[in-house]
Amino acid sequence: MDLTQTAEVAAFRAEARAWLSEHVPASPLPSLETAEGFAAHREWEGLLHADRWSVVSWPEEYGGRGVDIVKWLVFEEEYWAAGAPGRVSQNGINLLAPTLFDHASEEQRARVLPPMASGEVIWAQAWSEPESGSDLASLKSRAVRTEGGWLLSGQKTWSSRAAFADRAFGIFRTDPDAPKQHQGLTYLMFDLRAPGVTVRPIGRLDGKPAFAELFLDQVFVPDADVIGEPGQGWRIAMSTTGNERGLTLRAPGRFLAAADRLVALWESAGDPADTALRDRVADAVVGARAYELFTWAGASRFAAGESVGAESSLNKVFWSQYDIALHETALDLLGADAELAEGAWAEPWVFSLAGPIYAGTNEIQRDIIAERLLGLPKGRR
Ligand SMILES: Cc1cc2nc3c(=O)[nH]c(=O)nc-3n(C[C@H](O)[C@H](O)[C@H](O)COP(=O)(O)OP(=O)(O)OC[C@H]3O[C@@H](n4cnc5c(N)ncnc54)[C@H](O)[C@@H]3O)c2cc1C
Repeated sequence: MDLTQTAEVAAFRAEARAWLSEHVPASPLPSLETAEGFAAHREWEGLLHADRWSVVSWPEEYGGRGVDIVKWLVFEEEYWAAGAPGRVSQNGINLLAPTLFDHASEEQRARVLPPMASGEVIWAQAWSEPESGSDLASLKSRAVRTEGGWLLSGQKTWSSRAAFADRAFGIFRTDPDAPKQHQGLTYLMFDLRAPGVTVRPIGRLDGKPAFAELFLDQVFVPDADVIGEPGQGWRIAMSTTGNERGLTLRAPGRFLAAADRLVALWESAGDPADTALRDRVADAVVGARAYELFTWAGASRFAAGESVGAESSLNKVFWSQYDIALHETALDLLGADAELAEGAWAEPWVFSLAGPIYAGTNEIQRDIIAERLLGLPKGRR
C-alpha cells in the first residue's frame, strides 16, 4: 500500500478544504430527521452541487468531478473534518446510484442522477418488510403487470427518512410462482406521493418523525422505472449491498473527525485522574486510524482492479461497533444527563445504536465473514 500523496491529490485536497471552509454553515443544521432539518439539508446539498462537490466521484455529465477512489476518500476526510452536515441524500447517492451505474439504461441515468446530485429529488430505500428483514428474499409486496407498467401493493417498513423523501426504490414480487424465493423479483423506483401510497412515520426513541413505513395500494409505476429486466431484482439488489455495508456509508473521514472532537472534549472536560476513560479516548483515536489504514489498503486493492466483496461485511461490523464505543465514551465524559441533551453527541449516539441492525445485522455479517472469508462450514439456519 502506497500512502504517498501526489501533488495532484494535495491540490485537490486544498481546493476542497478552501471551498468547505468558506461554505460550511457556521452553526449545525437542525436534525435531518425533522421537516425543518430535512429542508435545510436539501438546501445544503443544492449548494454543494452548485460547485460540483455533492458527488465528486460521479462522471461530470451527471454533476460530479469524475475523481477516483483516492480523491473521493480525501474529499470525505475534508468534508467531515470541516464539520459539514450529514447527507440527507445518502440513500440515493450511496445505494441507488451504484445500482443505476451498473444496471440502468442511459435514459434512466440521465433522468434520475442529476436531480439526485442536486438534492432536488431525495430517495428512500424501500427494501425491508414487516416479516422480511434479514431474510429479505421472503418479501411479499408485489408488482402486477398492467398496461404500460406495474401496480405495486404491500407494506414496506423501517424506511429511513421516507416521511420527507420524494421517491423510493425497492424490490417487488412479480412472479409469485417462481420456484425459489429470490427468483421472480423486480427492482423498481416509485413516487412517494403517487396515488395509493400512504407514508406513516414510526416513532423513534428521540421522537423525531422521519423514519417511516409505507403502505402501497395499487400504485402505478411505468415500465420506464423498472431497473434491469423484470425477474432480475435479486441479482441487481445483491450486486449493490456491498456499498451499504462497506465504504460509501462510513468513510473513515467521519470517524477521524469524530475522534478529534472526542479528544477536544477530553481536553476540556476530562478528569486526568480517570485513566480508564482516558484509555477509551485513546482507543477511539487508535480505532479511527486503524479503520483509515484498513480502508486505504482496500482502496489500493480496488484501484489495482481487485474486488472487495465479502470484506465489506468486516468493514460493517467494525464501523458499527466502533461508532457505539466512541459515542458512549463521549457521553460518559459529559456526565449522567448527557443522553437527554440535544447537541453534538446525543443524537448521533442514539443513531449509533442502530448501526449493528441496519445495512444487514451484524449476526448476518458474522455469518458471511465465517463462511466466505474464513471458509468455515455453514451454520444452521
Ligand atoms: C435505524 C434503521 C434504519 C433502517 N433503514 C432502512 C431503510 O432505509 N430501508 C430499509 O429497507 N430497511 C431499513 N432498515 C431495516 C434493516 O435493514 C432491518 O432492520 C435489518 O435488516 C434486520 O431485519 P429485521 O429488523 O426484520 O430483523 P430480523 O431479520 O427479524 O432479525 C432479528 C434478529 O435475529 C437475527 N437473525 C435473523 N436471521 C438470522 C440468521 N440467519 N443467523 C443469525 N441471526 C439471525 C438478526 O441478526 C437479529 O438480531 C433500517 C433499520 C434500522 C434499525
